[in-house]
Amino acid sequence: MKETKEFKTETKKLLDMMINSIYTHKEIFLRELISNASDAIDKRHYLSLTDSNIPTTEYEIKVEANKDAKTLTISDNGIGMTKEELEEHLGTIAKSGSKDFLEKLEGAKGDVDIIGQFGVGFYSAFMVADKVTIDTLSYKEGAKAVNWVCNGGTEFDMSDGKKEERGTTITLYLNDDCTEFCNEYRIREILDKYCSFMQAEIYLFTKESYDEYLAHKDDPEEEEVAEVVNEDGTEATDTEKKDEEKKEEKKYVKPSPINDPSPLWTKHPNECSEEEYKEFYRKVFRDYKEPLFWIHLNMDYPFNLKGILYFPKLNTEYDTIEGTIKLYNNQVFIADNIKEVIPEFLMLLKGVIDCPDLPLNVSRSALQNDGFVAKISDYITKKVADKLSGMYKTDRENYEKYWDDINPFVKFGVIKDEKFAGKMDEYILLKSYNDKYLTVADALEENKEKHENTIFYITNKNRQAQYINMFKKAKIDAFYLDMIIDASYIGHIEQKMEGVKFVRVDTDLDKAFTKRTSKADQEGLNENAGKLQEKLRALTGNDRIKVEIRNLKNTGVDSVLTASEENKRMEEYFAAMGMGDQLQGFEDPGTLVLNAGSDLVKYISEDPDGENAGLVLEQLYDLARISAGSMNAEDMTKFVEIGRASCRE
Ligand code: ADP
Ligand code: MG
Repeated sequence: MKETKEFKTETKKLLDMMINSIYTHKEIFLRELISNASDAIDKRHYLSLTDSNIPTTEYEIKVEANKDAKTLTISDNGIGMTKEELEEHLGTIAKSGSKDFLEKLEGAKGDVDIIGQFGVGFYSAFMVADKVTIDTLSYKEGAKAVNWVCNGGTEFDMSDGKKEERGTTITLYLNDDCTEFCNEYRIREILDKYCSFMQAEIYLFTKESYDEYLAHKDDPEEEEVAEVVNEDGTEATDTEKKDEEKKEEKKYVKPSPINDPSPLWTKHPNECSEEEYKEFYRKVFRDYKEPLFWIHLNMDYPFNLKGILYFPKLNTEYDTIEGTIKLYNNQVFIADNIKEVIPEFLMLLKGVIDCPDLPLNVSRSALQNDGFVAKISDYITKKVADKLSGMYKTDRENYEKYWDDINPFVKFGVIKDEKFAGKMDEYILLKSYNDKYLTVADALEENKEKHENTIFYITNKNRQAQYINMFKKAKIDAFYLDMIIDASYIGHIEQKMEGVKFVRVDTDLDKAFTKRTSKADQEGLNENAGKLQEKLRALTGNDRIKVEIRNLKNTGVDSVLTASEENKRMEEYFAAMGMGDQLQGFEDPGTLVLNAGSDLVKYISEDPDGENAGLVLEQLYDLARISAGSMNAEDMTKFVEIGRASCRE
C-alpha cells in the first residue's frame, strides 16, 4: 500500500537548498551516504555483540555506478530501518543537527563554503539527483521491507518493499548535470579521497561487474588448487596444464575493497614497525622521499585523538615546504589543512589526524571559537614540541642531522605560536660556516668576549663569500640564516631577547676586522677618503656612495663594499613582499671601504687627482661590487672592457 507524506517545514527548506545548491564540491554527497552506511553497519555490529539473536554477517558496502541507467546505488548490510524509523529519521522530523545546519546556512547568506566540509547528511543526495529511492529491511525480527521514493518535491512516498537482505540500498537517479557520478573512475576518485580508511569494506562495481558478481556470489568457496597431477600420479603434460589454467582463469574473483579499514594510526604505536610507517607515508602522501621521523599521536583521555605526523625531507635548501594535514572523523576523511582545528605551522608537516569527537555539524567559524578544538590544537602542539625537545636532549646528533630539514618548520612554529615558542625557542640551532650547530644562547655565550650580544649571519653563501673569509680569518663565528623564514625569525629573536642584535656579514665592518689606528691617523685617512668619495661620486654619477679608508687586518683585501643593516633589511623585506621593483634607483649603494694597507689604495690616496687615480678607484669599487655580487650586467661589461684595456697598455 502506498502512502504519501509531506516533509516537515525545515526538511523542505533543507531539501530546497540542496536542490538549488550552487556549491561546487557536490561530490561530498557520496561521503555522506557512505558514512551513513558505515554507521548503520557499526550499529548492527554493536547490537550483535550484546544480543545473540541478531545475526552477524560479512559487513560491506557496495557501490554500483550504472552509466546506462544514470544511477548510483549504495547498499549496506547494516541495521536497516523499519517504516517508522524511516519516517522518523528521514521524513517528517528534521534532526536537530540538520536544523542547526540550516540556521547556519541561512545566516551565512551566500557563504556556500560552509556546506563544504562538515556533516551535511542524507539530503545532500539531492544536490546531484532528481529522484532518490531507499529500499530497506530492518535487522529487527519480523520486520518488513520498505520502499521510499522522493522526487525532490515536498512529499515522499512509502510502500511495501522487496528487499530480502537486511540493510539499506539507496539509489540516486542522477540529474543531467551530474552524470559524472555514474562514471566508475570518477566514483573511484571520490572514494579514494574520502573513504580510503573507512571502517567497513567498500566495493565498487559497474553495471557489468555487478551483474557478474550477482551471478557468482553464491558460488561455493574455492578450494586451494593442488599441484596438477594426473590420476596415475605422473606429472601433467604441458597441454594438460594449460587446460587447467584456462579453467582457473574463468573462476570468478570478487574485486578487492577499495579501502583499508584498519589504517596504521588506529594501531598502537608499539605494534607499528618502521617499515609500516614509511609505507603508509608513501601511500597516503605519494612522496617517495623517506620521511625524517614521525610522531604517533594516541590519546584516549580527555578526548579521543589519533594520528601520525611526519617530518618530510626537503629537496633542496630552496624548497618551499608544503605539507598536508588530513583530518578524519572516525576514519572518514573531512578535509585537508583545516586551519580552525590544526595550528597553522603544523601544516608544513605531512600527516593524518583522526578525531572522532570533533563537532562537525557546525560552521568553520564556530569551530574556531570552540574551546574543545583549542584543546586539541594545544595537545598536538605540545606533542610536537615534546618530541623535538626530547630529541635535542637525548639524541643531539640526530637532531643536528635533521636540523637543516626541520628548521624552517620549527622557526615558523615559534613565530606563529606563542606556546610552541615557549617550548622550542631554546632548542633552535644556528649553523655556522664551519657546520657547527649552536643554540642562540650558546652562540652568544661563545662569542661574548669578541662581540657581546651580536650574532653575525650569512644570507647568501656565494655572494658573501669574501666576507665569510674575513670572518674565518678573524676567527669570528657567523651563522647561516638563509631561508625565507629567517628574516622573520631574526625579528622574533631580537624582540624576545632584549639587546641582542643580528648583523649581516656584509654590513658595517666590525672593529674585529680593523687594526687599532690612532685618532690622528684615522683623521688623515678620513680626509683622503673624503676626496676619493667626491671623485667616485663624480665618476659614477651616484651621489649617495660613501667611501671610507680603514686599516683592515686582512691584508689580502683591497676594497670591500658594506651596507647598513637597516638598508639590507629593508631591501630584503621589499624583495620578500615581491616589491623589489619599487626600490629601483633607491637601492643603498653602500659604503666602499678601502684598506689603508693596500698599495693601490696608498697610491690613489697620496695623489687623488693623479694620472690613473680615477681608473684605479673605479676598479677598486668594481672589485668590491663583484665580491658583493651587486654589480649589474651593464657595469660588468664595462668593467671587463676596462680590464682588457689596461692589460694591453
Ligand atoms: P546523521 O548521519 O548525521 O544522523 P543523516 O541525515 O545523514 O544524519 O541521516 C539521518 C538518519 O537516517 C541517521 O541518523 C540514521 O538514523 C538514518 N539513516 C541514514 N542512512 C541510513 C542507512 N544507510 N541505514 C540505516 N539508517 C540510516
Ligand atoms: Mg549522516
